[in-house]
Amino acid sequence: MNAPLKQHLIDPEICIRCNTCEETCPEDAITHDNNNYVVDATKCNLCMDCIQPCPTGSIDNWRIVRSPYSLDEQYSWGELPKQGELTGGDDGEAIDSEVLALLDQAHTGVGGKSVPPASAAKPAVNLYQRNHAAVATVTGNFRLTHQDSDVDVHHVILDFGEVAFSVLEGQSIGIVPPGVDEEGKPHRVRLYSIASPRHGERPNTNNLALTVKREPNGLCSNYISDLKKGDQVNVTGPFGATFLMPNDPSANIIMICTGTGSAPFRGFTEWRRRSMPSAPGRMLLFFGARRPQDLPYFGPLQNVPESLLGKRFAYSRIPSEEKVYVQDLIRQEGASLVALLCSTATHIYVCGLKGMEQGVDAALDDICRTANLRWRELRDAMRTEGRYHVETY
Ligand code: FAD
Repeated sequence: MNAPLKQHLIDPEICIRCNTCEETCPEDAITHDNNNYVVDATKCNLCMDCIQPCPTGSIDNWRIVRSPYSLDEQYSWGELPKQGELTGGDDGEAIDSEVLALLDQAHTGVGGKSVPPASAAKPAVNLYQRNHAAVATVTGNFRLTHQDSDVDVHHVILDFGEVAFSVLEGQSIGIVPPGVDEEGKPHRVRLYSIASPRHGERPNTNNLALTVKREPNGLCSNYISDLKKGDQVNVTGPFGATFLMPNDPSANIIMICTGTGSAPFRGFTEWRRRSMPSAPGRMLLFFGARRPQDLPYFGPLQNVPESLLGKRFAYSRIPSEEKVYVQDLIRQEGASLVALLCSTATHIYVCGLKGMEQGVDAALDDICRTANLRWRELRDAMRTEGRYHVETY
């Protein structure tokens, strides 16, 4: 059986045939006929030089395949083929229904399930399953919260080496904890959001980061938090096809989170910074924690310029200070948020603990009412248009 490989492809539906990619490619891997621009898999070395100059984002498409699509196949396409599943053969395990049910639950907010942003890249899903897990090596594991904090959150970097594992910001992966339960059954897979952008912690590295909170007596979070450099981990996924970021540089992205809910937003911010540094769309982060010491990425966030990411922090347990939650910040920012909500370029993402969405929803309802907007109608329209997203667990 061939090992899966990552193939670079161009989306013929979005490509405007401007020839920029063909001119840019240092390997002469990009060519065209009268119909399509295509990538020669025998020449492409995934250097990514062509990604940034492309004016449409059509160049940024990837499939994990067992044998690459030929040039003739690509010339004939009117649209990109969907990512197929790589079950790894006859004994391949079907999609882990428990994982999908968890994900479904996580992505169902007040009023229902969302759809992906219209301009989002097409994700690969369920490439690796428990019986055919991708094996990743730990290349970093450090604590993100202050040493005084009793909230123990870790930044863990998993490197996939030669294994093709294609992800988008906002997707999750499954971690297979080793061992079996009291009944002798393998432990169930746990989901973790990807905290890095699609091309890795550094551009063009085949790795990804997780933001994991150690739960008291939690099986998998303790396993991950205790991993050492060089340890190997079985990974399934990637999962998730809706909680994705828009590829449109004019999209305003409002991100509301607590704790490890910040993970996907780290990926969003870094991808925007790398791929469209002068994007006109705004990024705004509302981040809640008990104290600054408990807030993952507190230090690194201070270094992110406001021009890239507007940051608003809410602390609920600072002695002798009033408790502030993310919903209070939303009310404080009411006027500027309402202005953003009036634009069809605005997307809202809510991520973190179950239950946080209710308070956020009530605050958005309040600020809309003061501006004679109907939040519920707006929210439902935004959801249908792929502009309102929730991931709570
Ligand atoms: P488990 O062993 O599953 O236990 C869960 C809780 O139950 C623990 O608090 C434990 O103390 C308690 N418990 C266990 N056994 C018992 C018992 N016998 N009696 C009483 N209590 C018990 N988490 C993150 O940290 N970061 C992420 O980015 C992240 N992303 C997620 C994305 C999605 C889409 C979803 C659905 C979840 C995500 N999670 C994330 C949560 C994660 O999947 C796990 O649920 C979490 O790490 C806890 O798993 P665990 O194995 O450590 O705990």
